[in-house]
Amino acid sequence: MSEIPKSIEEAESRHQRLVALDRAHLWHPFTQMQTWLEPLPGDEPVIIEHARGSWIFDTRGRKYLDAISSLWVNVHGHHRPEIDSAIRLQLEHVAHTTLLGLASTPSIELAAELVARAPRAGLPPGEHGLTKVFYSDNGSTAVEVALKMAFQHWKQRGKPEKRKFVALAEGYHGDTLGSVSVGGVDLFHEIFRPLLFDCLRVPAPYAYRWPTGPKHCLESAALAAESMIHGRRDEIAAVILEPLVMGAAGMITHPPGYLKRIARACRENGVLLICDEVATGFGRTGTLFACEQEEVVPDFLCLAKGLTGGYLPLAATLTTDAVYESFLGPFESKRTFFHGHSYTGNPLACAAALASLRLFDEDRTLDHASAMGQRLAEGLAPLAELPHVGDIRQRGLMIGIELVRDRKTKEEFPYAERVGHKVALAARQRELMLRPLGNVVVLMPPLSIKPAEVDFLVDSVRESIVEATG
Ligand SMILES: *Cc1c(COP(=O)(O)O)cnc(C)c1O
Repeated sequence: MSEIPKSIEEAESRHQRLVALDRAHLWHPFTQMQTWLEPLPGDEPVIIEHARGSWIFDTRGRKYLDAISSLWVNVHGHHRPEIDSAIRLQLEHVAHTTLLGLASTPSIELAAELVARAPRAGLPPGEHGLTKVFYSDNGSTAVEVALKMAFQHWKQRGKPEKRKFVALAEGYHGDTLGSVSVGGVDLFHEIFRPLLFDCLRVPAPYAYRWPTGPKHCLESAALAAESMIHGRRDEIAAVILEPLVMGAAGMITHPPGYLKRIARACRENGVLLICDEVATGFGRTGTLFACEQEEVVPDFLCLAKGLTGGYLPLAATLTTDAVYESFLGPFESKRTFFHGHSYTGNPLACAAALASLRLFDEDRTLDHASAMGQRLAEGLAPLAELPHVGDIRQRGLMIGIELVRDRKTKEEFPYAERVGHKVALAARQRELMLRPLGNVVVLMPPLSIKPAEVDFLVDSVRESIVEATG
């Protein structure tokens, strides 16, 4: 914020200058740039200038409730003094040093803190669960790390034939080529197939659209996965999935019990389990980590988005002593995990993450989020009666409202109609910032959202859906 405009005219001319520079030089992710360059009325670019709590403010002085937590990352609200000052304090010491063959203070403290808070429920006696932390920078790399570690683990255990991954249809694990290989969102991933490694696919337990009806979903989906895991156990390195909620697929909530069955099948068949909690981690689904709800402790836990409270890019892949130990050996054994990034374990990001974890205790974040989740559920329940609302799915503060053209037949709105986008534009007029996934309206507010903000969110999203589908 170098220049603070003194008048509305000055603010407007500054905004127009930024719009022009943006159009000239910035290529936005997951954005059709032609549409961005030639927006329809009401779809003009919004440039965010600052933020506080649940609200983001643009260069024209407008505000919006950040109902998607700035793409699912923000946890305790924006501009939290506790996280701000932790970063400032770290800045007094050092901004960055490497973790390659060198250690740094906050990355050690954070690793211990993550291990202390890692899922433990359901661990068999004598097992320690997730005790080791490997850092990277984002969710995609957290997944890459888990895939490469699982692959190398079996090689070093004398089972090189165990090199296949089982993934869920419609799963999403990031945008780098390894994570795209295990991804199953055709819209994003299909074009890259020739570049990818093959993986074994099992159906997503998508109850609303399960071919033989929602009540058969759990049993059939679990059976399909179990028979794959059992039948090809000698070839399978690991199963990867997003526990409880498949985010980018459209907030597909798994039937309770699904994760536990997959975890049991993995354990019984000597297959590793990778839980991608990049989206579900840090309280989103009601517990600090989603897999706790089914008393599952995976072999790999991938964390990113909420790790720093939404402040800085940082990721962690947690794993077990057993995996870690298969990489040990004399220097010349070359069992080293040859993977790392320039900014791995960045001290500023680790300091932010430590402050964010402390806030979970100080603010009793999980209790608050659970009350807000309940309030949202009650507020949203009447929306199920709207003529184009097919399904409302929720776990904690992860919500998807699937819009359909026809409620009886569950017929989808055509892609080109952009109905989700229309809802988002209607919401923008009501000071609510959304980003849908196709025809699914996503609500994922900061866990710190206040009761009055929940009510505002519910009212605005209802009006926006009515306007856009009416
Ligand atoms: C967002 C996401 C990723 C990718 O994280 P990035 O930080 O965007 O690379 C991976 N897995 C899941 C489940 C996600 O939601």
